[in-house]
Formats: sequence, C-alpha cells, structure tokens
Amino acid sequence: MYFHIILTDDCNLCCRYCRAKAFEEEEEADSDVPVEIDEHLKPDLSYDPELLYSFLRKDPDPTITFYGGEPLMRRDLVEKMVREAPARRFMMQTNAVLLDKLPADVVNRFTTILVSLDGRKELTDGNRGDGVFEKVMANVKKIRANGYTGELIARMTVTERTGIFDAVRYLADNPYHSFSSIHWQMDANFSGDFGHREFEKWVNDSYNPGIRALVAAWVDEMEKTGRVPRWYPFIDPMEDLLTGRQSLLRCGSGHANYAIMTDGHIAPCPIMIGMKQYYVGHIRDADPINLRKIPVGGECGTCTIRTFCGGRCLYSSIVKPWKREGRRLVCGTVENLHDALFAALPRVRALIRDGKISPADFAHEKFNGCEIIP
Ligand code: SF4
Ligand code: SF4
Repeated sequence: MYFHIILTDDCNLCCRYCRAKAFEEEEEADSDVPVEIDEHLKPDLSYDPELLYSFLRKDPDPTITFYGGEPLMRRDLVEKMVREAPARRFMMQTNAVLLDKLPADVVNRFTTILVSLDGRKELTDGNRGDGVFEKVMANVKKIRANGYTGELIARMTVTERTGIFDAVRYLADNPYHSFSSIHWQMDANFSGDFGHREFEKWVNDSYNPGIRALVAAWVDEMEKTGRVPRWYPFIDPMEDLLTGRQSLLRCGSGHANYAIMTDGHIAPCPIMIGMKQYYVGHIRDADPINLRKIPVGGECGTCTIRTFCGGRCLYSSIVKPWKREGRRLVCGTVENLHDALFAALPRVRALIRDGKISPADFAHEKFNGCEIIP
C-alpha cells in the first residue's frame, strides 16, 4: 500500500494558489453532507514513530510519501524515517527549496521526488515567490550531481496564468533541467473561489486547445525519437487505453493510497486533513492492507467516462467547493483529455506495431503522488 505521511502543516512558502488563498473570501461549498473538521489536530507529527513502523511491518510492500505543509520543514523526521522505517520505497512531495539541506545518502534512498514548479521562471516566481525557480533548479542539479538516480517529477499547479502547452514544452525542452517526468494539476474545484476566477474562458480558449496540441506533440515526439515522454496525465491513462484496463480513482486515494495524519489517524487522501468522518482507522490498530475503501460518489456514478477518469478527485467530490456550473467545466476538461488521447490511440498503436516504441515504455510507478487527471 501507499501512505502519505503528513509531517507538518508548516511551510516556508506562501504560494498564490495555496496558503495565499487563506486571505481570500470563500464562497459556500455545494456539499450535501456537512464536513466535520477535527479542530484539535496537531500541526506537527505527534505520535511515536515506532507506532508507524509497527503498522508498516504488517504490510509486505509499503511505500511512504512524505508530505506537508512542506515536509522538509521537518527534515529531522524525514532523515530519521528514511533510516529507520520498514518501507520498500520512499517518495516525497516538496517545494525543493530546502532539498540541499538533506544529506545526500538520504536523498539517494528516494525512488521518486515530486518537485513543485510551474514552468518558466516568471510564472513560477509569480506564483511561488521571487528567487524560488533558481533555488529549485540549483537544488535539483545538486542532488543529481550527488548521485540521485531516482525519478524526479516536475509537478505544476496550473491556473489561468498558465499556458499549458508552453509550460510543459518549456520543462520538457529546457536543456539544463534534470527532470525525468512532468505532471500538472489544475487549481479547480479546490476552494470556494469560482466566482472570482476566469476559469471558463481560460478552459475554452487556452487549456483545452493546449491539451489537444500537447497530446499531438507527445505522439510526434514518440515518432521522432522512439521515446515516450513521461507526462503523467497522458502516460497513465494511455497505458490503460492500450490494455483496455478500467481505472479506479487514479491518484489511489481511498483504495490504494492513504494518508496518515499528524496524530496517527488514517484518512483516504492527504488533503482530507482532519476530515474525521472519513477516517478509516488509526495506525495503532489498523490493518494496513485491509483498510476500508472510500469510493467516489455523486455525479461520477452515472458518468460515461468514469472508468477512464476514475472520478478525478475524492476530496472535491465530497466537499464540492464549486457549484454544478464550475464542476461541469472541470469535467469538460476530462472529456477533452479523453477525446484527445482516444484520437491519438491509432497513432500510438501503429508506433508499437512498427517497433518504434514498446508497451513497456508506458510503465510507471502507480500512486506516486501524481493525481493523474488534472
Ligand atoms: S468526468 Fe467528472 S463526473 Fe465523470 S468521472 Fe470524472 S469527475 Fe466524475
Ligand atoms: S486528487 Fe483529490 S483525492 Fe486524490 S490526492 Fe489529490 S486531493 Fe486527494
């Protein structure tokens, strides 16, 4: 199983689409069920790590993903757990500003590091703060120079400020980056901000056409180089389209990927902090390989592309931060992605048939922190 470990709520940045939103006025959510939040949840990890290790020992194949806040605000715990925890794999979602502070032998134990970055320097610094882009690039280069050979995923949050085609191509083509993969997630249906967004215009004029162009560029690249670029919103669903496999929620939340809160309670997803009515147990006595499953409900139940999409986001489907109009627009982006990948399928199949690429080129670690459906 996969477990996000929430180390702390603390963060060293105040990104425009994350903490900075705490200063904006929120619209009322559209949820049918009131969400109860545990107001007493401690901001920092407050259980004995030995309790976590005993829990993980009951799982023959556990993966840990360090998460925050910013997990490297508690690099003492990251270092301790990497050295002690009985986990098969270690992963981390980080803003990478403090990545150079972690000892190289600890960094080199990670199989996957997701680095938050939004594309070009101007866009990244505009969202995340002056100097962040250069610092992150320097740290990424440094860990590669120190022997890190694992997967390094550039993970963007995309908003109306993002030209998706340019941002992805920039990260993919930039000659001095060291990333192995790219992922992106839309800032959509995540907080009560639909009324002051220009989401519909951006989706229709920029994002959806950008995705269609990007899928075409993705297959062009396969044709030209025989390489399948590791762009997660494409590679994961395309692998399923090729094999005819149907998908549950692609981030794994609530069925393969759970999150351990700072007090040891287990939630279905790392964003569902303190959402106690959805907790599935506590590390002191839960069985890690038989945790209760929390399926995505609501509108997804009757959706014709449910087995492609998987439900996009369990958190959003419960909280419904945007009303129906906004949610429809988000689902429209999933339909657009589905149609673009489906249209590219014959070209991809032909490349496999001609031996230019192989089905194995689409293989990847599942539930590695990428939400997959943006
Ligand atoms: S497209 Fe929308 S309604 Fe359909 S499964 Fe995805 S999130 Fe649910
Ligand atoms: S996509 Fe949604 S359910 Fe999945 S990890 Fe992110 S917030 Fe949680």
